[in-house]
Amino acid sequence: MNAVLQPTSPVRSTQSWQAADSAHFLHPFTDFQSLARKGSRIITRAEGIYLWDSDGHKLLDAMSGLWCVNVGYGQRALVDAAAKQMMELPFYNAFFQTATPPAIELAELLSEVTPPQFKHVFFSGSGSEGNDTVVRMVRRYWDVLGQPDRQVIISRHNAYHGSTMAGASLGGMSGMHAQGGLPIPNIVHIEQPYWAEHGRSMSRDEFGKVAAGWLEAKILEIGADKVAAFIGEPVQGAGGVIIPPDTYWPEIQRICDQYGILLVSDEVICGFGRTGHWFGCERFGFRPDLMTFAKGVTSGYVPLGGVMVGDRIAKVLIEQGGEFEHGYTYSGHPVACAVALANIKLIREQRLVEHVHDDVGPYLAKAYETLRDHPLVGDAETCGLMGALLLVKDKARWTPFDPAVGIGMVCRGHCFANGLVMRAVGSRMIIAPPLVITRAQIDEMMALIRRCLDLTLADAQREGWLA
Ligand SMILES: *Cc1c(COP(=O)(O)O)cnc(C)c1O
Repeated sequence: MNAVLQPTSPVRSTQSWQAADSAHFLHPFTDFQSLARKGSRIITRAEGIYLWDSDGHKLLDAMSGLWCVNVGYGQRALVDAAAKQMMELPFYNAFFQTATPPAIELAELLSEVTPPQFKHVFFSGSGSEGNDTVVRMVRRYWDVLGQPDRQVIISRHNAYHGSTMAGASLGGMSGMHAQGGLPIPNIVHIEQPYWAEHGRSMSRDEFGKVAAGWLEAKILEIGADKVAAFIGEPVQGAGGVIIPPDTYWPEIQRICDQYGILLVSDEVICGFGRTGHWFGCERFGFRPDLMTFAKGVTSGYVPLGGVMVGDRIAKVLIEQGGEFEHGYTYSGHPVACAVALANIKLIREQRLVEHVHDDVGPYLAKAYETLRDHPLVGDAETCGLMGALLLVKDKARWTPFDPAVGIGMVCRGHCFANGLVMRAVGSRMIIAPPLVITRAQIDEMMALIRRCLDLTLADAQREGWLA
């Protein structure tokens, strides 16, 4: 046995990990120099909904890793499925008229758990790659139908669709567009359905229809015969858990139907139970032609993504399309697919979607209601097991803090120091805990959230940020 793996061997110190980390590892979405000065927090193990760092501190992971560890850490069934598949057949491709049993079985199972229009899947290695596939596929669809001018894909500002050239272009993050010459041609953005920012002069329901109307206006501006598709996350995740009014998606559906435009649901976060339904489109009542998935499909244990292809598109590509000149080495990776199979079976057996829908989802919603009395909280909302708090300076008017204060990052700092992983997006504090969380653990999480809000408020009073 390798000496390094023996339990008696000395473990590296946190300082040693941090030094090697900043010397060699360029982290995603990170200011390299400022992280090197502070040093990373080194996460070394996890169990259930908890993480431990290299100093032995325990953290409640209210972000499920990065929106993905839906079944929680330490699930034996997923580990065993990976080990077994690695021994039997660690890799074979699906390019040259070959397939592997796990990829076939996963394709079959996905067609069972997704809405009825989906009987086909195209696999990728991540959500970003899945959205690259979406761009290729919707344009190919219109080409095959003899409408090659239908090139434009409409998305939203503050959307997140990944970090590849196409994914970041579809996304509406201005910081990302500012680097690397994005967006690529023929991708345009409309405003997001964020009521707190754009709609407070009307009811949420009225605003939902107004925000969907921005899609119709954009289609008319461009010309419907040039528009290929509209893409959106049912609930915007990385944008700050922006939950649209219930009137929004049905109106988007109506508009797409009216102009014959393809509708794409990016379910990378909302899929596999997060909203209390198998997929976010089922929660919000719309019927997409394509659905991107990743993250929760394997609960993040290994990377896997893909696109569910609805009958309307599958029929054209299969019957008239000829060769689709697109694919990834890891499309249908057998180990990733074996883990996804084990993960989806676990979600079914443990009835985790029902658990979110009937039990912990409503329980979290009630708990969040009680945070509305906190002096810093302007708005508190949830959708299934996603939650957001809007931190404001003045409750009555929802006056924002001076951005220079970085109120979200201050709050996030208190969370980390007090054993809670919560994410800050501007002044929105967001959570997406593992679906296996219990009521008692929600109580524990809420006590931590309240404590961190109090500590943030004390800072704001002491530093004069409320003035
Ligand atoms: C995370 C995410 C992606 C990108 O997935 P990666 O696996 O990081 O490439 C795409 N869409 C949404 C909605 C996401 O949250």
